[in-house]
Amino acid sequence: SASPEPPYLRGLNAPQRQAVLTTEGPVLVLAGAGTGKTAALTARLAHLVATRRAWPSEILAVTFTNKAAREMKERVGRIIGEAVEGMPWLGTFHAIGARMLRRHAELVGLQSNFTILDTDDQLRLLKQLILAADLDEKRWPARLLAGLIDRWKNRGWTPAQVDAAESEGYANGKGAELYARYQERLKTLNACDFGDLLLHMLTILRTHRDVLEHYQQRFKYILVDEYQDTNQSQYLWLRLLAQERKNICCVGDDDQSIYSWRGAEVANILRFEKDFPGATIIRLEQNYRSTPHILATASGLIAHNGGRLGKTLWTEHGEGEKVQVVGIWDGPEEARRVGEEIEAAQRRGTRLDDVAILVRAQFQTREFEDRFIAIGLPYRIVGGFRFYERAEIRDALAYLRVIAQPSDDLAFERIVNTPKRGLGDKAVAKIHALGRAAGLPLLAAAAQILDSDELTPQARRALANLVGDFARWRARLDELPHPELARLVLDESGYTAMLQADRSADSAGRLENLTELTRAMEEYETLGAFLEHVSLVMDNDADRDAEKVTIMTIHAAKGLEFDTVFLAGWEEGVFPSQRALDEGGNASLEEERRLAYVAITRARRKCFIMHAANRRIYGQWTSSIPSRFVTELPDAHVTQENSMSGGESLWRANWSEYADPFADVARGTGRGPGWRRAVSGGFERVPPRVIEAKASAVSLGNPGRSDIEIGVRVFHS
Ligand code: ATP
Ligand code: MG
Repeated sequence: SASPEPPYLRGLNAPQRQAVLTTEGPVLVLAGAGTGKTAALTARLAHLVATRRAWPSEILAVTFTNKAAREMKERVGRIIGEAVEGMPWLGTFHAIGARMLRRHAELVGLQSNFTILDTDDQLRLLKQLILAADLDEKRWPARLLAGLIDRWKNRGWTPAQVDAAESEGYANGKGAELYARYQERLKTLNACDFGDLLLHMLTILRTHRDVLEHYQQRFKYILVDEYQDTNQSQYLWLRLLAQERKNICCVGDDDQSIYSWRGAEVANILRFEKDFPGATIIRLEQNYRSTPHILATASGLIAHNGGRLGKTLWTEHGEGEKVQVVGIWDGPEEARRVGEEIEAAQRRGTRLDDVAILVRAQFQTREFEDRFIAIGLPYRIVGGFRFYERAEIRDALAYLRVIAQPSDDLAFERIVNTPKRGLGDKAVAKIHALGRAAGLPLLAAAAQILDSDELTPQARRALANLVGDFARWRARLDELPHPELARLVLDESGYTAMLQADRSADSAGRLENLTELTRAMEEYETLGAFLEHVSLVMDNDADRDAEKVTIMTIHAAKGLEFDTVFLAGWEEGVFPSQRALDEGGNASLEEERRLAYVAITRARRKCFIMHAANRRIYGQWTSSIPSRFVTELPDAHVTQENSMSGGESLWRANWSEYADPFADVARGTGRGPGWRRAVSGGFERVPPRVIEAKASAVSLGNPGRSDIEIGVRVFHS
């Protein structure tokens, strides 16, 4: 039928259309997973642009990840049939905050080329301040302070706004004072941390009417995805910007709120109607993503949470397969089994891009990586700072940061003696002292100290070389393509040579990572743009074109969907996490359950839930029991399989104090029964079958603790 309506409305259901067409006034879309919230938000964006209600540059659109921003941009481009040039305000809160702050940096005492610190820099800086305040860093770790400062920033609090009770949490009330000093230090370093990207902007909007009015005028429409995970500071920021025109549309799902540990507040959803009276509330109930079994499994699980806003979900999709719950022996077998399933799916025509393995914690990814490397299955790891967190990458970046911004003291400090060039702590302390006295950045202080006789001749020579190097590299910044400059710097600084000389097992891999780094740089116009990207991105997807299986944390998978999803490690202590169990409260357990709900609802057609009877966590073998979430799944929609039982039930003794019996068997000869030669060379574990297991409690004289003695007979095929 020839419909006169624009293509971006075609196929949308009635409430989705309402979300698109109610352009004026506040709108809140509150709906479950896979109901087309993001789709509706994207269509709304397209509609606003296509009907010329606003130019792309007049719309503020917030997504939760950089990946989601990219996808939304592409989708809008496809929908309105032209490349969307200049959607400068489409991105994550952090990216948008950084962009805004660069324009107004001077209002908070920064220059527009400020550096964005990562966690490592932040901790180093805090450590210095803690020591300077004569506190015992062991007793009052920098990490604790960093966590507090982060929390305060997420709430929109400047140091002056931190109340005494909160400040008590660190070094008997010194918390707020150290926070203030930290902010001062950041200012002198011309730097800010992630929390500042929003907090500084919030401060500016609150104290500079002209700036506030400028943005209130500019942003004719505001769109927010994953609204349930905004924190207080983000919420206040949005409210200020939307106050004038009130054209704000937020979409979210209270059941998918999974960032309360980072300060997100579901309460923001409930406040929406109060802050924006007369808001249109839209509910979507048709799920377009998953099969009925998957949907029912997720719904059945989340029903165990209390205090939900509650919602109905239905789908027109055909029956599909039940969710497959698979119990296996241990972590390596889990990886092996998942690898086999993926290869089988591939033979049936599933694309690797359509497969994801979702884990609760980063540590779980390694076993999959090992296995996939062994069988040659291409994979990518998404989420976290994995790639950019590696030491060699951080070192290389530090060199580049000093070149881009010679006053970047933290970067300078990181590499001043890497590779070793005879500039020990003493020399660095002297540079520091001079820098402080003269109010100079370290590199400038280093140049100056060369004129004095404060350094030993050896240190002086080394420093003169380094200072000369940086001057030379910086001079070439505009003339050499920056990836080439990076290669030159790595060579001339001796960094490459240092790795080449290193005989340890991973030095080859580290050299490869550096090559990968310079390759990644090619995608960016300038060194500055690249460094900005690095400080903002969470995901390492340098080669996003190749077809690969994705391994990621559930947190990183929010908003995404895959044909086939493997949910790994559903065991007590892994998922729900030990931390959530230790906290003991219902709140943290419910957040874990929401996370499980997010995990299941990523799957379109097939969903596997794995649990292992033995798990190595941070080097310790422990036996584990299936997650309570497994037992909460509705029976009618799952199949249970136990590859190791053969009729017997899983053996669950508490041997958390005991090392892996099979590793012990193997340890004698290096490799004993239980190991076989792997295709890739080396050895791999064979899944053993337990024939007999005996456990008895014995007292080894530790009061209050019974030790467990274990005997195991195993059968190896
Ligand atoms: P989540 O809560 O996980 O973020 P969501 O509500 O944002 O999910 P979307 O990702 O927008 O859901 O949509 C889920 C899937 O349904 C996508 O594949 C999308 O293309 C499809 N979809 C959305 N709306 C419709 C529709 N009206 N008709 C057909 N398919 C749709
Ligand atoms: Mg979404």
